[in-house]
Amino acid sequence: MNREGIIFVISAPSGAGKTSLCKEIIDIFPTLRHSVSYTTRPMRSGEKNGIDYHFVSDEIFSAMVEGGDFAEWAEVHGNRYGTAIATLKEAAAAGQDILLDIDCQGAAQLKKNWRQGVFIFVLPPSFEELQRRLLGRNTDSAEVIARRTANARDEVRQATWYDYLVINDDFALALEQLRAVIVSEGIRTPRVLPTVAGAFGL
Ligand code: 5GP
Repeated sequence: MNREGIIFVISAPSGAGKTSLCKEIIDIFPTLRHSVSYTTRPMRSGEKNGIDYHFVSDEIFSAMVEGGDFAEWAEVHGNRYGTAIATLKEAAAAGQDILLDIDCQGAAQLKKNWRQGVFIFVLPPSFEELQRRLLGRNTDSAEVIARRTANARDEVRQATWYDYLVINDDFALALEQLRAVIVSEGIRTPRVLPTVAGAFGL
């Protein structure tokens, strides 16, 4: 008997290195799958519909909100993003661990509604370093960087209620910490016990 799938929720201010951490961790664990969110944001070059996101129109997103299809949804940087209840239910039914890369507003909604999730927050080592990373990307305008830095100050305040804080100073160490969380959560007694209870008469 397989254990139930675990919902890992990971949030971070932009510039903390969350995207790279998520990509690497998915490669490490063949059993862990990325949750494909719905979004109204336009597709970026290199992205694929149904793989990076389900890219939908404003009308379709609104219809899904009204239909109660989302476990959580939020507006982030002017676009809407949401996790479908169906995505979480399918993963749970298949015993599949799933990684949700979502913002703090969405994570807070899940914390309220799906208590069994594991909540991980990725922090940069300092605000100065965060700003340096945003500038180093060289892809965003000064205005966008200023807005993202201001947003980051708000987002970091949310870190207090997460289960785990990963400080991404040394990337390899941050990845190792994230790996340790995923391994440890998988062997929590309430998760493993049902899979062996019969065999050992527990
Ligand atoms: P991007 O547009 O750069 O892919 O993502 C922008 C932000 O939206 C990131 O912080 C990401 O974590 C967040 N995000 C992506 N999918 C979801 C989702 O389904 N729900 C919520 N609440 N945020 C999401």
